[in-house]
Amino acid sequence: MGKAILAIDQGTTSTRAIVFDASGKVSGQSQQEFTQIFPQEGWVEHDPEEIWQTTLQTCRAAIEASEFVATDIAGIGITNQRETTVVWDRESGKPVYNAIVWQDRRTADLCETLKEQGVEKNFQEKTGLLLDPYFSGTKIRWILDSVEGARAAAQSGKLAFGTIDTFLLWRLTKGQSHKTDATNASRTLLFNIHEQAWDNELLVVLRVPDSVLPSVEDCAADFGVADAEWFGAEIPVTGIAGDQHAALIGQACFEAGMAKSTYGTGCFMIMNTGDKAIASKNRLLTTVGYRLNGKTTYALEGSIFMAGATIQWLRDRLKVIESAADSESIAKKVGYQSSVYMVPAFTGLGAPYWDPDARGAIVGMNRDTGIDEIVTAGLQSVVYQTADLVKAMQQDGIAGSTTLRIDGGMVVNDWLVQCLADVLNAQVDRPVFTESTVLGAAFLAGMQVGLFNGFSDLEQKWQCEKRFTPEISAQESEALYQGWLKAVERIR
Ligand code: ADP
Repeated sequence: MGKAILAIDQGTTSTRAIVFDASGKVSGQSQQEFTQIFPQEGWVEHDPEEIWQTTLQTCRAAIEASEFVATDIAGIGITNQRETTVVWDRESGKPVYNAIVWQDRRTADLCETLKEQGVEKNFQEKTGLLLDPYFSGTKIRWILDSVEGARAAAQSGKLAFGTIDTFLLWRLTKGQSHKTDATNASRTLLFNIHEQAWDNELLVVLRVPDSVLPSVEDCAADFGVADAEWFGAEIPVTGIAGDQHAALIGQACFEAGMAKSTYGTGCFMIMNTGDKAIASKNRLLTTVGYRLNGKTTYALEGSIFMAGATIQWLRDRLKVIESAADSESIAKKVGYQSSVYMVPAFTGLGAPYWDPDARGAIVGMNRDTGIDEIVTAGLQSVVYQTADLVKAMQQDGIAGSTTLRIDGGMVVNDWLVQCLADVLNAQVDRPVFTESTVLGAAFLAGMQVGLFNGFSDLEQKWQCEKRFTPEISAQESEALYQGWLKAVERIR
């Protein structure tokens, strides 16, 4: 029986590998950035070969840096940038085109056409998603339609599709395994989340032949065995989940009503909704939180385009702070007294407004307003947008109070997190180990091989570094939030 788990976090800008010991502690790690390819406005691609090479190299380096050798490793967990699409030749293993990244907008027109045909409701009901270029389905179709010979090859069963987890699994197992997990499948626009199966009707609409599809497993499963050539010993791949789903697990949000929010450039919030797939009235996404032992736990997901990016804007464009960290001491001085609100709708407003034409504004300024008030308003905008998401989720039918667990680069900012607890009028927990995504992947893999004892083990291991509780009254909190709603109204 092995003593450690190797977790791969294949992200949008970098690939990371971490070796965890049986107590869940990091024993060795490695990270590498890779090339972002922008062939034209709105297009974003990655080279799958580079993704594979950075995966191999970081895994080897992480094992090397750890106290373990390959034969000690009981299982591999994979978590990945979601939706990013690869199509490859089953025979040679070579991709027929670059990976089309989730951010890529090239299929926007196709999505519009499909919407005009009135099929969005069907997609929404079956997949929990919206007809947006973001998701894999229209990206697969683009590759099959645009790469010479691809459609014919697909039709004769020669091509395979996968999100990044699937592509890495294929490479690790030298083509022995063509599988994905239910969370990654749930982001393709082709997977019926209620029936937990690829949906023939949607496959026809998107003109994707079912011969290209991987089989869909639980998040903890025997996905296949990594060939001994890669790390010096055969290692089974036993856990897979998309990044936000892995973070939900890493944050041990195992009960309905528990949510995690990751504050990086943007913010992704996922709330566990238990065994109910809640259809959102606010155009939030319904998704598979995780699937274990054949049992699906659903989640609602909402995102904020501008979270840390607002702070970057204050630093790099407005040039009113030198570093992102400066925002904290500034906001401490200003507090909640200021009447200034910033609505960072630089690229439109997401849930629950869905106003792509809205643009940013700073409102409520008077003659006392200076840089400090504007910086504070920037931080608070992240909080108010979170409140919008929480309220939308509550409206969609999540009862009771919300526990929010947070992670990501912004949450080192204590002032921001306290403001979050105050405005949400809820408890906000920051864990000791904030690398929730990769921890979630390790946990899934470790559970399958018996190194960890199910979710109760993770619940015990999850440690709160600091709990933030509301320090203002519910009325004060509501007054602050009402000010935000008024500010949003002004820009719409
Ligand atoms: P990503 O994974 O999206 O690259 P990270 O999780 O590394 O992002 O977080 C980086 C973001 O957090 C940046 O946008 C930065 O502006 C913001 N940030 C970092 N430190 C602070 C801080 N102390 N206060 C506010 N924002 C911060």
